[in-house]
Amino acid sequence: MTQPSQRRIYVDYDDVVTETARALAAQLRREGRWAPEFEDIREFDLHVSFRLGSAEYDAFMARAHRDEELLALEEIPGACATLRAWLDDGLAPVVVTGRPPYAYAASRAWLDARGLDDLLLVIADKYNRFTGDPPPGVSVAHLDDLRRMKFLLAIDDAPPALDFVASSGLCPALVFDRPWNRAYDPSLPRARTWRELNAIVRKMVDAAGLEPATLCV
Ligand SMILES: [Mg+2]
Repeated sequence: MTQPSQRRIYVDYDDVVTETARALAAQLRREGRWAPEFEDIREFDLHVSFRLGSAEYDAFMARAHRDEELLALEEIPGACATLRAWLDDGLAPVVVTGRPPYAYAASRAWLDARGLDDLLLVIADKYNRFTGDPPPGVSVAHLDDLRRMKFLLAIDDAPPALDFVASSGLCPALVFDRPWNRAYDPSLPRARTWRELNAIVRKMVDAAGLEPATLCV
């Protein structure tokens, strides 16, 4: 039986767990294209920050979501060890990603390869942009599904996803600091590193009166 799970923690994947924007820029450069330096990516919309037209963008993102590109993504320092510690301490982080459903298998494999095979991965239609059926065995979560998960906190870097969390009343949000969200709502808590994120989450769990080590999901 599932306990009330206020301790579930929504953790975005790209640019919270993995260094995705850096990899996308590097991929563009490998392909002989211009790409901005990481600190100069001031717009989350990659059409704008990478100066790609719609057709170019779609083709590039399809290349960027190939298994070999996803599997090669670097970890943001401390992400996997912290997620491991949260799981071991009875917290329930859930990776909630807006990656396309066909990217599920490689996204799952990346986590499994880092000892996180017990970390739930959810593909969520955060931006209302998925079309067609997901691959067999892959489910797509919509807002109601996420509501039922009763998150304590959502950690994301993308202004549209943070807007989605706020406007849906899903749960409180925390901004994972990236160059493209520096102007986003300064009233929200913000973490620049996984060390800072861990300190904030541990404090929230304590304040919520949860005893992570004694709770199960
Ligand atoms: Mg992200």
